[in-house]
Amino acid sequence: MMPNRRLFGTNGIRGLVNKELTVEMAAAIGSAIGTFFKGGNLVVGYDARTSSPMLANAVISGLIATGCNILFAGMAPTPTLQYTVKDCKADGGVIITASHNPPEYNGIKVLWSDGIEISREQEIEIENIFFDGKLSYAEWNSLGRIKPLPEIIDRYIEAVKRHVDTAKIASKSFHVVVDAANSVASLTIPRLLREIGCKVTTINANIDGTFPGRLPEPRPENLKELSLAVRALGADLGVAFDGDADRSIFVDEQGETHWGDKTFALVAKHFLKENPGEKIVTPVSSSTLIKDVAEAYGGEIVWTKVGSVVVSHTMKALNAKLGGEENGGIFYGPHLAVRDGGMATALILDIMAKEGQPLSKMLEELPKYFIEKGKVECPEQLKDMVLEKLIEKVKGSNLSTIDGVKAWFEDKSSILARPSGTEPLYRLYAEAKTAEKAKKLILEYETIIKDIIDSLKSS
Ligand code: MG
Repeated sequence: MMPNRRLFGTNGIRGLVNKELTVEMAAAIGSAIGTFFKGGNLVVGYDARTSSPMLANAVISGLIATGCNILFAGMAPTPTLQYTVKDCKADGGVIITASHNPPEYNGIKVLWSDGIEISREQEIEIENIFFDGKLSYAEWNSLGRIKPLPEIIDRYIEAVKRHVDTAKIASKSFHVVVDAANSVASLTIPRLLREIGCKVTTINANIDGTFPGRLPEPRPENLKELSLAVRALGADLGVAFDGDADRSIFVDEQGETHWGDKTFALVAKHFLKENPGEKIVTPVSSSTLIKDVAEAYGGEIVWTKVGSVVVSHTMKALNAKLGGEENGGIFYGPHLAVRDGGMATALILDIMAKEGQPLSKMLEELPKYFIEKGKVECPEQLKDMVLEKLIEKVKGSNLSTIDGVKAWFEDKSSILARPSGTEPLYRLYAEAKTAEKAKKLILEYETIIKDIIDSLKSS
């Protein structure tokens, strides 16, 4: 899990409970985080995993030992905790969560005072403190204290409601089926939706850290129950969350599950209609659909490296108001530049209410693309050289090398080749106006990459 001196991955610290991530380590990480913050008030909360209270208590002990005061939020969705850090003007926060990972995993996420995850540079500071053992413990008479934080769910729900037309949504009496993944989404989403006048039916809403209903990753193959429930009940919308409720995947009234690109494009379209000229921040792995919508409605696309933290930080740097990811992450800056499943659901209902059209119809009107994926095995030590050679070979009408290499072609097809961060392979994503063209691109680039690897091996 942690080669060399690395603790943090792309989304905080993650590991197998009691194997890679132990209580002893969590306490030491807590003290490293506390040393980094040099005291102050930190919000601490956790997701619904079986190991979350255990790890939260260890992290809290480590933090208190360095003199940090704890604002204890308890169990809550990640976006609720992020909003709470900002709302109560804390110096930062720590969340125990492994997001969408299987139940045997857990993790630690560190937030800055604005509620956004700390930067990579700040993570390195914490890693250096941890690996050099430079923990700065407080004297017995200046240890931190724990104060419970009441009403965080109420305050979060009120904050989300301020960004949508609640009366308009209520006038439609939408019926929404919520699949809460047996996790923290249960704590906020059903209440939020009832408060804005929706009829709510829940599935997988009992909190259970073994995730008995489905895996905490909201992929279409995990959401068949939700799709069936929406159709059987004649509901207007279905929504499924990941394990910490920052990502949301939507099911239309006909029971069809849509991947995040499409719902993000719909949100971007309506946002740009009301806010022309604004920037839309999204990873280079997102669909050309987003680019089409931005071009059609006068927005400016800002491509980033893949990863939600990069999107948040780019939004922060550019003061951009909307970001999104293909996996169902929507970042609404006027609320907070982090992905937030509750905020995303409220935005989708707001659009449905304002347009007076079913979700299927609005998504149907968006440009259509076919997506194919592929992969090529590539030894770790060749990855950089392969990328250099690949950039020379790829000739699109438009090229980005911000993360791997992506080329957009004249016929609206595109290819993205990225070295995997965790496995010895290159991942390929192709998109085109026909399925055949997307498949053809994958085959073509698989061959190009294999040839490059062969020539590098023989030279
Ligand atoms: Mg998540």
